[in-house]
Amino acid sequence: MAHKAFALVPATWQREDLNGNTPRCPICGAVPKAKNHLHVGANDVYGRAGEKDSDGLLNLNLAEWLHFPRVLRIKRFVGIRGLSCRVGAFLAEKVSEGHLWALVMLQDIHHELTGLRGRL
Ligand SMILES: [Zn+2]
Repeated sequence: MAHKAFALVPATWQREDLNGNTPRCPICGAVPKAKNHLHVGANDVYGRAGEKDSDGLLNLNLAEWLHFPRVLRIKRFVGIRGLSCRVGAFLAEKVSEGHLWALVMLQDIHHELTGLRGRL
């Protein structure tokens, strides 16, 4: 059976985290079931098909392949530099559509910014 969902895993994950003889997640099939991860669809990864310049996690540099072509790793957000208007708009749109992963990413960015302010 072909899995439609992509796995979106935290920035701290390494390739080794995908190994092991544990049961696989029934939704994405690419990640051990017991490990906490999120799922995203093709539109979220690549942007809307056929739309030039459309936003997606890869285009916006929000995620990178940990294991092509099924497992994406969230990129560490370094300060405010990565938070362009496009990224903000993209995530806000996804949150409003009810995507949990977008909310998690926004919270992650928020933590980074709060942490940064504390150090300045
Ligand atoms: Zn999964």
